[in-house]
Amino acid sequence: MEETADGRSIAFSRRELIQGAGVLLGAGVVGAGVSSCSSTSGSTASSKWQELAAQLTGTLLRPGDPGYGRMAPPYNRRYVDVEPQAIAECTTETDIQRCVSWARHHGVPFVVRSGGHSYAGYSATGGLLISVASMRSIALDPATKRVTLGAGVQNRHLFASLPRYDVGVPNGRCPTVGMGGFVLGGGFGFNSRKYGLASDNLVQTRVVTSDGHLLVCDANQHSDLFWACRGGGGGNFGINVDYVLQSQPVGELSLYKVRWKWSDAPAVMAAAQVLQASAPDALSARVGLDVASTTPPAEDPSGLSVSALGQFFGPVDQLETLLAPLLAAAPTTEKVIRSMDYTEALAFFAQNVPVGRFTEKSVYIGPDGFDASFVETGMTWIEKWPGSANVTAVGLTLFAWGGAMGRPAPDATAFVHRDASWLSVVGTSWGPDDPQELIEENLQWVGQFFDALGPYVTDQSYQNFADPALDNWQTAYYGTNLPRLVDVKRTYDPENVFTFPQGIPLHI
Ligand SMILES: Cc1cc2nc3c(=O)[nH]c(=O)nc-3n(C[C@H](O)[C@H](O)[C@H](O)COP(=O)(O)OP(=O)(O)OC[C@H]3O[C@@H](n4cnc5c(N)ncnc54)[C@H](O)[C@@H]3O)c2cc1C
Repeated sequence: MEETADGRSIAFSRRELIQGAGVLLGAGVVGAGVSSCSSTSGSTASSKWQELAAQLTGTLLRPGDPGYGRMAPPYNRRYVDVEPQAIAECTTETDIQRCVSWARHHGVPFVVRSGGHSYAGYSATGGLLISVASMRSIALDPATKRVTLGAGVQNRHLFASLPRYDVGVPNGRCPTVGMGGFVLGGGFGFNSRKYGLASDNLVQTRVVTSDGHLLVCDANQHSDLFWACRGGGGGNFGINVDYVLQSQPVGELSLYKVRWKWSDAPAVMAAAQVLQASAPDALSARVGLDVASTTPPAEDPSGLSVSALGQFFGPVDQLETLLAPLLAAAPTTEKVIRSMDYTEALAFFAQNVPVGRFTEKSVYIGPDGFDASFVETGMTWIEKWPGSANVTAVGLTLFAWGGAMGRPAPDATAFVHRDASWLSVVGTSWGPDDPQELIEENLQWVGQFFDALGPYVTDQSYQNFADPALDNWQTAYYGTNLPRLVDVKRTYDPENVFTFPQGIPLHI
């Protein structure tokens, strides 16, 4: 057991952390990690960049440097052309403070990146990219079961660490989504109906603000900024160095993954709605009107189907009883329902979405749920998808909301969307060689599809699924919490140093 600088005890030994990192590095995905201060690419580097490089414990990468090409692109390759002038691979909070001070002094625009998964490419910049991806320590306090996560921790690092302690924190399925953005914008996963959002479980975070100070934020210190960090969205108020989350026991788990024919979608969706209305917190669900991402089966060459996927905290016989009405809705074409241990469950859910170019639009469905017209509209529009070379994020997906996510008051944290029954998402993706006209057709299709759902949904959208084409994003993401977020912005970033197209403004 070790102690952190501010006295928090940690249970992972250094050896365990190193071993954990070894496993992850073995998977070949994590970057170079800590390296000593190095200069940039010699003669091409201007003196101001050399000045910054000399201040950092981590490495400053400039175009042409080894590692630059791997680290520069954002996850959504739609924004791959936005190339940073330099990438600061921060390894300490001091590195972050120096980057912010340096960028302000030289008037260089900057953004912070953790996992790089912003849908809208908001962690891409033509200026200085402040990467916290190397800051991925994970420490568990055995007494309080609080987990301290470096801002660069990704889902896959949680998958590799937490099961051995049988505790969990809300996490998503994509292994490379970063906690940096995930926690600040809410952060939900299959455990969120039981545990709440990641931001609901945040008990403390340290933030480097625009004046270069490092602030400890919790219920008692800088509580207004702490409130804003619980759902106010990444990139708005400062750079979060780490997050202390209350973990929860996991225990016995069962899972399900079921698929039905497209023509059975109305009956299946109706049953899913009934199930959701009375489901215990322990049951989660993702239901989808899906376009197949692989070669469609011969029996249904359209590649369209309806699916349900989820987790239950409890034994498999109880899960089967809960799912019985859903399974009775129509004959299944694929069915897995079984108990799994925690590690196996994380692997089962882990969704390695291939990197691509995509856009998604989200909207919450009100407390009464959806009806047959909503489903019919969804089916009609999916049948009109114009096609593309990439089918990784196409369709209509519904995530069951409610449970512990619905219990806090809308103003208890900056996350306002508390009385929804489902989060609904429409999306499309395309390949690098798809012609511009087809891309435009896809963008039009997704916009028209979204608009067609309007009569059946609310005007609220999920801030972590940033949609650059959303007109009313300020109120859609933040609702009645927007004025208070603006106040916090004025207090901690009065010169709007942390800015991006959908950043919290100084005035409304
Ligand atoms: C394939 C995929 C699957 C996803 N699955 C889920 C899911 O299951 N549940 C869910 O809730 N969300 C999910 N998301 C959305 C995800 O939570 C958000 O995109 C989130 O913002 C990503 O965080 P990031 O650190 O990876 O991204 P980044 O692009 O690095 O950051 C996102 C935003 O936060 C800012 N930011 C990053 N780090 C910090 C920091 N340390 N301090 C302050 N600001 C910071 C960035 O500047 C940017 O504006 C998914 C996204 C993708 C692409």
